Amino acid sequence: MAGDQQVSLAGGCLCGAVRYEAASKPLVAAHCYCIDCRKSSGTGHCTHVVVPAAAFSLSGEVRHYDHPADSGNVVRRHFCPTCGSALYSTNAAGGELVFLRASSLDDPDAVTPGASVYASRAPKWDPVDPDLPSFPKMPSQEQRQAMLQRK
Ligand SMILES: [Zn+2]
Ligand SMILES: [Zn+2]
Repeated sequence: MAGDQQVSLAGGCLCGAVRYEAASKPLVAAHCYCIDCRKSSGTGHCTHVVVPAAAFSLSGEVRHYDHPADSGNVVRRHFCPTCGSALYSTNAAGGELVFLRASSLDDPDAVTPGASVYASRAPKWDPVDPDLPSFPKMPSQEQRQAMLQRK
């Protein structure tokens, strides 16, 4: 599956003021049904595409909103200040990964989600894909590493 995925990803917001590129294959893509993702998504969940921060480049101005996750890490959610489109998240403390919103990709089918997390919080009207591995909450560090290494 990952072999079919594109080597670079591009996306942007609805109004076009913000554009980004990631010169990388997705490390992993997953659906997240946590409350923060639901509230910020406009629907039942977010689909995140993980890429190396070193491969990510941005043009245009973004704003961000910081909110702590269950883990205690503060998630920084970046969005277009003009049109409000959700674009990507990072760890507010820094880090080597960027979590693109699959909804902001020019070609959303350039990625293939491989798992669902916080599946226990999915609303009834946004059912979790029964064909994907799913975790009731956030998977453990070991499980996350396994997902990153499965290519
Ligand atoms: Zn915009
Ligand atoms: Zn989430």
